Amino acid sequence: MANHDYGLELTNNSKVGWAFSLPRNKSCINATSICKKLCYGNGVRYQTAGQKAKRERNFRTVQFLLNEGGSQLLAQNLGSIVEAARPRDWLTAKITGTHTAIPWTLRIHDIGDFFHSVDYVEAWILTVQKYTDCKFWFYTRSFSDTDLFEALTRLASLPNCQGWLSIDSDNFESAILAKCKAPASVWNLALLQDRDLDVGVLPALSSMEKPVVIVNFPHHRGGRHVEPVRNNILTHCPAVVGGLSLKSSKDVARPCQSCTFCLP
Ligand code: SF4
Repeated sequence: MANHDYGLELTNNSKVGWAFSLPRNKSCINATSICKKLCYGNGVRYQTAGQKAKRERNFRTVQFLLNEGGSQLLAQNLGSIVEAARPRDWLTAKITGTHTAIPWTLRIHDIGDFFHSVDYVEAWILTVQKYTDCKFWFYTRSFSDTDLFEALTRLASLPNCQGWLSIDSDNFESAILAKCKAPASVWNLALLQDRDLDVGVLPALSSMEKPVVIVNFPHHRGGRHVEPVRNNILTHCPAVVGGLSLKSSKDVARPCQSCTFCLP
């Protein structure tokens, strides 16, 4: 029987703050075997029935809205979740010309990716263009489909949005090729450093002609992480290697909101 429960909903976690998520099995079309194995989405707090149902409902709703009214209709509805992420003191800050206590940010996909849908990317482009005061960022492994990558490159080119190509030992070569095809400085790279990082990864990254920004996430679980590889082209995520602690309260800046390295 079809499920007729619809709605778009954010999550708010102690590292990222506000984020939108989709089910991995339906949206992570280019997941590598390493990311499937090491994804933090395997963790207990992402695997509760409630969290899974929320991601399924988001996906069902995205598809419904795209079918009914395309990117425009989906963008109208994504707007409501972006507004829900607006800091409490946003209006006061606007009127008084000051800054909000916590920045207005939204990560597109804490869990999930852009599946096969250019229309879905177009909806995010419309949304990001509308909410210029909000900073968006996303990580993706969807760089093998030409049309999808072209749309994602337009999304990542917007001034209030930063895109990151997620790489690991399995896919670094195709990510480097994709980055080289896109306009310089649009894409940054995000490395998932597993315990047995392929010996070719760092030489390949170091040999790129144009300067590249690379954030490194040494694989971590349960408060422990693998020893970060030493190379000055990498910036290790401080929330992983210990420089920034997780924040449980929504009323204080979360690590990503105070670090801002991955944000536009
Ligand atoms: S580097 Fe900074 S912004 Fe990026 S994921 Fe880590 S804490 Fe967040």
